[in-house]
Amino acid sequence: MRRKIIAGNWKMNLLKEDAIELFDQLSDQCSLEKSVEMIIFPPSIYLDDFVHRASDSCIQVGAQNFYPRESGAFTGEISVSQIQDLGVGYVLIGHSERRMYFQESDAFLKEKVNSALKHNLKVIFCCGEPVMVREAEEQEKYVLIQLEAALSHLEPTQIANIVIAYEPIWAIGTGKTASADQAEEMHFTIRNWLEKHFSSEVSKNVSIIYGGSCNATNAKELFEKPNIDGGLIGGAALNFDQFLTISENLRNGLH
Ligand code: PEP
Repeated sequence: MRRKIIAGNWKMNLLKEDAIELFDQLSDQCSLEKSVEMIIFPPSIYLDDFVHRASDSCIQVGAQNFYPRESGAFTGEISVSQIQDLGVGYVLIGHSERRMYFQESDAFLKEKVNSALKHNLKVIFCCGEPVMVREAEEQEKYVLIQLEAALSHLEPTQIANIVIAYEPIWAIGTGKTASADQAEEMHFTIRNWLEKHFSSEVSKNVSIIYGGSCNATNAKELFEKPNIDGGLIGGAALNFDQFLTISENLRNGLH
């Protein structure tokens, strides 16, 4: 059975004291949300501290980024082995901000996926179309090309360690969320793609989560859809009450 997942992507936000306060508040609560897997992606500089804090909580800690090499002359980067060595459980790959601002190509994302899996890191792999593609009604083709490029070479056992996050770019940080029907339509397409490429068992078991201005108000409607297994939350993850409400909506969802 696939997992329900709520992930908070804090991006480049929060100074240490506020980050610790929010993390500890969530830690205190998440034991109540046992049916939901909660993952926090803090800024990398806090990872070591948070992995220790998470050791007696049910929050899992993930890295927003890493460089897919063991070590070497890559000034300013953090290697995949350093991330693994810290005890981090998840990594985020393919976020539109990294594709856009840091020119991460499909080929590089494939390399990151391979490197993460080789180091026993679970992956949240993000995909999603820009507004012009949506307006041209070519979003399905666009997203499937992203998935083909980075994931289609994997073995069925490897794909079990991947969570797919559908994040339409026009909805990220804009306050303009995809409607529950628009999101469900894409999640259904992604699930069919998983079945075609891997197997019906894989397609039933891989969690597909939605991201893009998901908040305490719209979460319920999104999570009621049969193919939406949770959310990747940006802005609303910085607010304890909002994030907790989103998580409760997922726990109480219909499926
Ligand atoms: C994100 O950046 O992954 C995201 C979903 O952001 P927001 O919730 O702020 O749209």
